Amino acid sequence: MTTWHDKAAAVQADGRAFINGERVWAKSEQQFENLSPIDGRKLGMVARCDGADVDIAVAAARAAFEDRRWAGKSPAQRKRVLVRFAELMQKYGAELALLETLDMGKPIKYSQTVDVGGAANCIRWYGEAIDKVYDEIAPTPDSNLALITREPVGVVAAVVPWNYPMLMASWKIAPALAAGNSVVLKPSEKSPLTALRMAEIALEAGLPPGVFNVLPGYGAEAGSALALHMDVDCIGFTGSTRVGKQIMQMAGQSNLKRAWTELGGKSANIVCADCPNLDAAVEAAIGSIFFNQGESCNAPSRLFVEESIKERFLEKALALVPSYQPADPLDENTVMGAIVDATQLNTVMGYIEAGRTGGARLLAGGKQARTETGGYYVEPTLFDQVDSSMTIAREEIFGPVLSVLSFTDVQDAVRQANATPYGLHAAVWTSDLSKAIQTSRALRAGTVHVNQYDGDDITVPFGGYKQSGNGRDKSLHAFDKYTELKTTWIQIG
Ligand code: NAP
Ligand code: MG
Repeated sequence: MTTWHDKAAAVQADGRAFINGERVWAKSEQQFENLSPIDGRKLGMVARCDGADVDIAVAAARAAFEDRRWAGKSPAQRKRVLVRFAELMQKYGAELALLETLDMGKPIKYSQTVDVGGAANCIRWYGEAIDKVYDEIAPTPDSNLALITREPVGVVAAVVPWNYPMLMASWKIAPALAAGNSVVLKPSEKSPLTALRMAEIALEAGLPPGVFNVLPGYGAEAGSALALHMDVDCIGFTGSTRVGKQIMQMAGQSNLKRAWTELGGKSANIVCADCPNLDAAVEAAIGSIFFNQGESCNAPSRLFVEESIKERFLEKALALVPSYQPADPLDENTVMGAIVDATQLNTVMGYIEAGRTGGARLLAGGKQARTETGGYYVEPTLFDQVDSSMTIAREEIFGPVLSVLSFTDVQDAVRQANATPYGLHAAVWTSDLSKAIQTSRALRAGTVHVNQYDGDDITVPFGGYKQSGNGRDKSLHAFDKYTELKTTWIQIG
């Protein structure tokens, strides 16, 4: 039987850019090395695109938009291409999952289900949606007809992070393409392989050349050239709050392109003493922070447990932690894989050190693991006796590190939960319906979970309050980002 390791040994990663329907190297011929975080092995070279390549890709996207080779297709025609794109993503699912795991370090089990499955589902959903959304006629006086229609904005740039490379890309490109835009996507330099493959698959599905271009490269080169470009109409950005602020500035500094940001988080998970199912709360708290090696924007990295149940909660939590010990990402049973690269590993280890020296109590983990592999792994780590002023309670770690805090009553919990510049997700566990609703209303976050943490569906918006960004991915609301509203007044007789 061929194992994932056998398949991995045979992988020949193509790191060339994808512009106007073709694989090309950067104009400058510059390249960078792509190393796998699993074992440090070299996966291949990647095109280091910069402003010159951005100019070419944006011109191709503009030409495709202007001649209406895609925008001019009926919604039903666009639907057929996108549904075919989704089917092909599934057909090539094993190849895509393997590339994702090798490039980014996540367990192969999840690359197949969460990443390939989620990306294909997203592309299919927007394809299927686009011929079912209607425009409006305004209730104006009889002497006029006023049409309110949605038109594609034109050329959309998408800049995405490395934590869910295919999924974050599909959350941008699927609604943007469905609406008739042309897209230039810049994946993270740390994980460019699957986005490049997706562009080939879209072409195979019948998406015309030039409509979907992918430029790998560094953020400060290819990314900023897109954000500053005078002929990009809209930029959809997912990444850190620090870079999100720069994206907004670059949009303002250039052509005031529409700038949508989906940024970082420091999500609060509040477990009250009247929690209806403590075991479920423990499983969700532990499972959600260690999922994807803790590299999730919505990870519940601040756990608030009511004083009176904290000891019992921590006992149960500690019993679960060992099952998240990092293991071989290419083994189907593995649930925690490798951290994306050495830089991120050092960031995470730096935060663990800050937790130790800052006065928190290390209850589990805290060390690197599997160093003999040449890859980057961190033990599932749990800090107790954290208070809201500590670095590990304030800053996004983006690694498998949970900070446990406590509270006396739910008002106290909400005050602490909201004392952050972020506002992505939050959760409250209680049997009291009124308390659940009041707490949910008081939490300043784009998504609030009640008695669960894993509520997730393509039908609901995903995005943040405050410095977690201004955009919403997923759901029909995502069309708002990639369309302009047009009013047409028609005089009647
Ligand atoms: P990042 O450093 O902000 O990078 C995100 C993307 O921006 C990458 O493609 C990066 O390119 C690019 N970039 C970096 N500097 C740039 C610049 N000066 N101009 C233009 N583009 C630039 O974030 P990350 O470390 O990849 O991702 C982790 C962050 O994403 C976390 O904060 C996480 O919470 C957030 N996130 C948010 C959501 C959400 O939906 N709210 C979802 C997932 C992740 P290079 O990497 O190639 O340099
Ligand atoms: Mg990589």
